[in-house]
Amino acid sequence: MQGAILVLSGPSGAGKSTIINHAAPQIGEYYFSISTTTRQPRDGEQDGVDYYFVTHEQFEEGIKAGDFLEYATVHGNYYGTSLKPVNTALEEGKLVIFDIDVQGHRLVRAKMGDYVTSAFITPPTLAELEKRLYARATDDKSIIERRVKNAEEEIHAVNEFDFVIINDEIPKAAAEFATIANAARLKQSSEELENLVNTWHN
Ligand code: ADP
Ligand code: 5GP
Repeated sequence: MQGAILVLSGPSGAGKSTIINHAAPQIGEYYFSISTTTRQPRDGEQDGVDYYFVTHEQFEEGIKAGDFLEYATVHGNYYGTSLKPVNTALEEGKLVIFDIDVQGHRLVRAKMGDYVTSAFITPPTLAELEKRLYARATDDKSIIERRVKNAEEEIHAVNEFDFVIINDEIPKAAAEFATIANAARLKQSSEELENLVNTWHN
């Protein structure tokens, strides 16, 4: 495999989608891993674009069939990354970007750490996160409260990541993300390093 993986994690409402979209023109070609979830689509979300939306039963079939590179329960719903398209993209030498939670980051790092660069993104404060979740107006109060509670746990995983992005001003955070993405492309796996050493002698 020749590609590289960039994991972006952070609380719901941290600005992951916003920052990936803003940074896209600065990071060249990449493959965004579309996750599968059992949560309901939000207004404006499209199946096969934002997520693959499936039922609980369909998701559990996928688990049994070994379809997922990783999966986790987040805010009471299943979320998972399909293995096949990720492997294909890596074999094609692409940068693969994951928007997954901190549990998913641990699992991907354990399985494919050789290829992984990771970044945690957060607004400057918990109060600002809460403000943005209400301003986004896509979730009910009870769902927002659950996401805020989850964020209070997730922030403690910040030291597991290679980089942290404080999403205060969008252009600045997007530029930082682009720098990290372009560095992630340059990360060499141990197989590549071994090949380098072997050919270097000749
Ligand atoms: P995530 O993908 O991490 O759940 P979103 O990208 O949906 O988060 O961002 C959550 C909300 O915050 C959206 O309404 C978005 O427009 C807004 N937002 C993102 N970044 C900023 C920022 N730097 N300042 C103010 N609002 C922001
Ligand atoms: P949301 O419902 O706001 O789209 O996402 C909720 C949380 O689930 C976010 O932290 C997001 O990063 C995470 N998430 C999305 N897809 C996946 C996935 O495939 N695996 C894991 N482990 N987490 C995911």
